[in-house]
Amino acid sequence: MLIARELNTLAGHRARLGSETRPLALVPTMGALHDGHLALIAAARRSGAAVAASIFVNPLQFGPAEDFTRYPRDEAGDLAALADAGCDLVWLPPLAAMYPADAATTVDIGGPAERWEGAARPGHFRGVATVVAKLFGQVRPATAYFGEKDWQQVQVVRRLCRDLYIGVEIVPVPTVRAPDGLALSSRNRFLTPAERALAPTLHRTLAALADALAQGCEAEPRLAEATARLIASGFLPDYLALVDAEALVPISAVPISAVRPPARLIVAARLGAVRLLDNVPVG
Ligand code: AMP
Repeated sequence: MLIARELNTLAGHRARLGSETRPLALVPTMGALHDGHLALIAAARRSGAAVAASIFVNPLQFGPAEDFTRYPRDEAGDLAALADAGCDLVWLPPLAAMYPADAATTVDIGGPAERWEGAARPGHFRGVATVVAKLFGQVRPATAYFGEKDWQQVQVVRRLCRDLYIGVEIVPVPTVRAPDGLALSSRNRFLTPAERALAPTLHRTLAALADALAQGCEAEPRLAEATARLIASGFLPDYLALVDAEALVPISAVPISAVRPPARLIVAARLGAVRLLDNVPVG
């Protein structure tokens, strides 16, 4: 496995992989890798591409009151996991390569970035879009793999590529879950044992709601009821919404049979110190 920590090393490794006939796939991550990340590597490998992973905890996508300094980091463990997974190249950009002192460009996305995570975390998607654009420019992959766990992020990155004519195909990968349904996340380690026991309620709630909506129940009362139940169980929801899966606008049409598919149920809820995200398809 090739490892690059400087832009010129990356360019050399990139040229070496580029001389092969395989296209290059990129899996951007912030490290502290788990089986969800490794599913992205596996999906990229199955496509027949040479696989590059990046590890960069991107300060620009964290708000001032968020957990940038506390975000888990485990470079040695990550490199071992990526080598085991058959990754061909790892890009570990230094901060100065991503954000040189004279950098003057950020990327702002409207549309699918406006609501939900965009509203709850002002500046978050500016950070995501900017770092993804930089990573695409540095690595120049043909494809990039993103987890459906961050559903809105997938739609935002797709919009970035369409609007700026960035020739990278975005490939979404289904969410990897623990056996009890909790979506794997690098931040789950910060749940206390009691919170960890409660956490799968979030996915169970979404799954039950998706079933009810698919059977034709009215959305608004069910959403309100499920939100109240989450609060009663100890969650602090930021949002629980039924949205158009691509545009991320709320769907007010009820019942669900009147909704133009695809629709998605999305949720963000705080449990203790951890903010959990999840989403499921509807209909
Ligand atoms: P992160 O390191 O949290 O920025 O995530 C890097 C990539 O892994 C993103 O595309 C995430 O959506 C994806 N990812 C994180 N958790 C999961 C999961 N449980 N299942 C599938 N993909 C995931």
